Amino acid sequence: MTDYLVKQEDLDLLERTKDRCNNCQKCPLGLLRTKSVFSGGVPNKKLMLVGEAPGYWEDQKGEPFVGKAGQLLDKIFASVGFSRQNDVYICNTLKCRPPDNRNPLPEEKDACREFLDIQVGTLKPRIILLCGNIAVQSFIEGARGITKVRGQWFDGPYGAKMMPIFHPSYLLRNDSREKGSPKWLMWQDIQEIRRVYDELFKDS
Ligand code: SF4
Repeated sequence: MTDYLVKQEDLDLLERTKDRCNNCQKCPLGLLRTKSVFSGGVPNKKLMLVGEAPGYWEDQKGEPFVGKAGQLLDKIFASVGFSRQNDVYICNTLKCRPPDNRNPLPEEKDACREFLDIQVGTLKPRIILLCGNIAVQSFIEGARGITKVRGQWFDGPYGAKMMPIFHPSYLLRNDSREKGSPKWLMWQDIQEIRRVYDELFKDS
């Protein structure tokens, strides 16, 4: 049986990295933030979600995926029995909020990459969900847009299975639940994620 417990030394490393992130000034966003947003959910070796960058509420609270998009993400997880309290480690590609929620600049992503690499390299999760285009581009070189790649499994770091999924803020802008709509597709994807999760961890 595989041991999926996170060692104390790994939790300590994540805490030390979070402290460094909170004091980081490696790119100009460090001067603009209210709070950096290192991670949310629970550190674990099974399921990680990587998003894009903090928005207004995330910057205020220092937590990823709060506000309406975060509430929708929680509902999507809950629909298949996942919760951020018990099952998912959540982080972003960029740890500080870009002004007016613009897309991160390449040099900002490069400066911040170290933190994401430590998070992935420490936990080595078996499943990584890439939430939105920015996360997809950070892990899949030359990837097509999210609508083309969502719902497909890719090989990820440390043997992870990676799946691009729609960002919940995109789903909020596309309200239809009709067959083939983004919300309908998200429903297919989260069920597939649950299926693979159960298959991978049936003996643990
Ligand atoms: S975005 Fe990343 S690299 Fe830039 S200041 Fe924040 S933590 Fe540092």
